[in-house]
Amino acid sequence: MIRAMSERCLFCDIVAGEVPATVIRNSEHVLSFLDINPQAPTHVLVVPKAHHVDVGSLAADNPELLGEVVREAARVADNAGLADRGWRLVFNVGPDAGQTVLHIHGHILGGRGLAWPPG
Ligand code: 5GP
Ligand code: ZN
Repeated sequence: MIRAMSERCLFCDIVAGEVPATVIRNSEHVLSFLDINPQAPTHVLVVPKAHHVDVGSLAADNPELLGEVVREAARVADNAGLADRGWRLVFNVGPDAGQTVLHIHGHILGGRGLAWPPG
């Protein structure tokens, strides 16, 4: 797929196989892979293969694809054995939330007690 330079990012490169990652699930439109700096025993990133900046812009541009991102996250959590004990899905948006990669990604977190509210 040809992408405009402005749309290239680290997660586009992981989707393209140009940067290595440990892939957990690979559906037609969504890729799930281990976070390189895990914050919980299960910490998986779930991303649409197409480049969208954040969860709000994906919801506006392609709500069906956002639904697939969330469905894939639930499958990853189920497969990790988290269905009963619970898990968290986090979409950081913008600098105050600490979004460092401007390609929407859900953090699937689980396998330990997760504090609320988060720090
Ligand atoms: P954000 O802070 O943008 O919500 O989350 C970005 C996440 O991407 C961080 O949790 C960070 O550890 C992860 N990350 C950054 N670079 C890489 C990488 O090269 N590979 C993988 N698998 N994860 C990365
Ligand atoms: Zn991207």
